[in-house]
Amino acid sequence: MELDKDIQTTQRGFHCNLCIVNIPNRPSLEDHVKGKKHQHLLRLRAQRKAQEENSVFVSGFKPDTSQTDLKEYFAQFGPVSDVIMDKQKGVYAIVEFSEPQNAEAALAQLQHQLNGLKLRVKPRERKEFKLASRGKQDSKNPQICLDKLNYELCKATSVNEQMLKVVERFELKDNEKKVRDLLVQLLQEVFTEFFPDCQIVPFGSSVNTFGIHSCDLDLFLDLENTKVFQARAKSSEATGENQSEDCRSEDSILSDIDLSTATPAEVLELVAVILRKCVPGVHKVQTLSTARLPVVKFSHRELNLHGDITINNRLAVRNTRFLQLCSGIDSRLRPLVYTIRLWAKQKQLAGNLSGPGPLLNNYALTLLVIFYLQNRDPPVLPSVNQLKNMACEEEKCIIEEWDCTFPSQPFIVPPSKNTEDLCTLLFGFFTFYSKFDFSASVVSLRDGHVLPITDFLQSDEEVVKPSEASGPKPQRSSAPKLRPMNVLDPFELNHNVAGNINERTQKNFKRECCEAEKYCRSLQYQQKSTKGKSWGLVRLFAPPTEAGPRSQVDTEKIMEVSIPFKADVLPEPLRAQLALAGQGFRGLWFAKVCSAVHMVFHEVLKCSPLEETQTTAVCQNLDKADRDGNEMEVNNNQSVEDSVLKTGKKRPLAVDEDEGPSTSTVVQAKRQKLDADMEHPEPVHWTWTQRNCVWAGRRKVRRDLLKTSDETSKPEGGCVDIESRVTQSIVEKEEKLQDLLEFKVDAEVVGGNESTKVVLRFHPSHDTAGVFQDFFHFLKSFLPKMAETILGRAES
Ligand code: ATP
Ligand code: MG
Repeated sequence: MELDKDIQTTQRGFHCNLCIVNIPNRPSLEDHVKGKKHQHLLRLRAQRKAQEENSVFVSGFKPDTSQTDLKEYFAQFGPVSDVIMDKQKGVYAIVEFSEPQNAEAALAQLQHQLNGLKLRVKPRERKEFKLASRGKQDSKNPQICLDKLNYELCKATSVNEQMLKVVERFELKDNEKKVRDLLVQLLQEVFTEFFPDCQIVPFGSSVNTFGIHSCDLDLFLDLENTKVFQARAKSSEATGENQSEDCRSEDSILSDIDLSTATPAEVLELVAVILRKCVPGVHKVQTLSTARLPVVKFSHRELNLHGDITINNRLAVRNTRFLQLCSGIDSRLRPLVYTIRLWAKQKQLAGNLSGPGPLLNNYALTLLVIFYLQNRDPPVLPSVNQLKNMACEEEKCIIEEWDCTFPSQPFIVPPSKNTEDLCTLLFGFFTFYSKFDFSASVVSLRDGHVLPITDFLQSDEEVVKPSEASGPKPQRSSAPKLRPMNVLDPFELNHNVAGNINERTQKNFKRECCEAEKYCRSLQYQQKSTKGKSWGLVRLFAPPTEAGPRSQVDTEKIMEVSIPFKADVLPEPLRAQLALAGQGFRGLWFAKVCSAVHMVFHEVLKCSPLEETQTTAVCQNLDKADRDGNEMEVNNNQSVEDSVLKTGKKRPLAVDEDEGPSTSTVVQAKRQKLDADMEHPEPVHWTWTQRNCVWAGRRKVRRDLLKTSDETSKPEGGCVDIESRVTQSIVEKEEKLQDLLEFKVDAEVVGGNESTKVVLRFHPSHDTAGVFQDFFHFLKSFLPKMAETILGRAES
């Protein structure tokens, strides 16, 4: 009976699901079934089954309850053979009786009480018997798993030790690696039958030294040699030559497909069929052919593994080698990555699980850690360009025209001069990213430092691939997709690995880095608690922090509205201007935003400026520039924004030799001053007045207006003309405020050490009607949307 269930017939003989082995023929099968391993596993399974049936799961007792207390209590239902307790927490126990009837009797009793506390007694969970089951019980319940980890961490003596414990707890153990190797071997055997000379290459976290118990098995099906095989077979067929002694392609799936012309989706469809039909234990096979990299997903029942098979994914195999190399170069990388991955998972910032919005994937997060280590002083890891220069000729590697050269052995790389410990480096990671200007910077591991966003703003300007310098044929490619977080792949230089991240996740990442940074300053982080309280990493792994009510109240009081710099929504001509402005792009963008904000107040919301108090520092700067430098002509009739545009352009610094050194120094000094003004423009101030409640009832007015016009409906803040008409209608139809509302707005641009944005601060200077709070509440969402709309159409 058992035999039938465990043994499966396959195309190449048999497969034993219990021992997870392939058996070629019937005589070997008989030997196998009588063999030690199979018999041992059969006995073990029977024993486990009996244990499950004989035992009950007990919880609800006091933490100081002993095994003897429980044994004595449950003896009333029959002889108790064992009590297994969750010793660390004293939360649950498994009580094992000698006979299944005893367990049934205990379960049949409605109420249990021990030392005055009600006990919960439940049937013991039935688990399918699996060969590689060690450690899985914990991973099923993340909370129990984390509680246990935290308990262990509290016992450590330093944060360094805690970080090493995190690695120890999560890393893939040898037996798990073996199970993965076995599956790769099995797949290799099966796929070779269908795709002669193919290769199954594992990549990703199973082999990049950052794998954890539950990580998926990423596989690359390399069909290059199969293509050669197929071409050869075809040409010998055409010339009528005798088929080689190995007629592997005959009757194989290869006769149905031409690999030189088939699309990835077609090949993957075949891969899916092979997985479904020919690989024992594989189930839940699913093809995702529309993903950026089409993939077949599958699971393996007995091994409890999830896997992905891709084709055309050589770059991922190479970047996996790169991560392995980095691990080998400095041993501090692994504990940092494991700790930061766990922190990010707990805070719902990264990982493969669904969270509040898109999350960073583990690859992108690991790159962020490496980039940070490249930027330590002195650096812990070299840049990818430096690594390239350390490689020898044989190690040169170009994939899809991208230069992926680096040394194959870590010992080639000189050891880092940085001697900081793990505790300090972890703290440094949070400090580094809490101050990071994500929206205006591009993380480049290739260069080992950030690149200004302006280098990437002109999308028609193509990125030169690094292989261009050395290769005979120059190769060019498009620029990366700019998003709230920009992390360039170290090899595929037009690919933003954090391109899926939205504004919200980026903000959450920064906020959590700030929180972690604050915590790392405290003694609780750095010193073990003498009172047995949680300390060090334990508090870092607490659930995510919310933007709590207190901070909301604070922003209400401060009355601030932010307009973030979003490169991806700016129109092409404006991006080109910003690109030309180089370091001064913030000044230019600030002028654009100020102009848009001015338009919102003046034209859309029909506020009136108070002339005498309206000053714009930008104007003043530009006037000054006009007076100081002849080459900076600023026409007084131009708008503020036009003037800034003019000065914002990068000018060639070459000076005419004849002018002599003194002139050139003066000109250069003036230019530097202007560039500095553009980099750090001074704040702008306005005072506005309003006579109507232009914020009240807008939605209804807009609905009525749109009903009578054939314009397509736009969301609130999506169209200047509609919003202006809404205001006009309110001004004409609604009652005026009894007293004039007057308010001041101060605008400034920030960035560099924090995210680039324009901050607008509001102060009501005359508000006898007490309406400004309502107006501000409306402006908080209306103003950024409207300004974005105006910026978006500004240059068209
Ligand atoms: P885990 O599976 O534990 O989340 P992982 O590193 O295996 O971690 P996957 O998302 O499974 O992450 O990706 C597998 C591998 O594919 C990565 O290790 C990396 O080599 C490559 N990869 C993943 N995402 C990207 C990406 N956005 N750009 C380039 N390569 C990527
Ligand atoms: Mg993976």
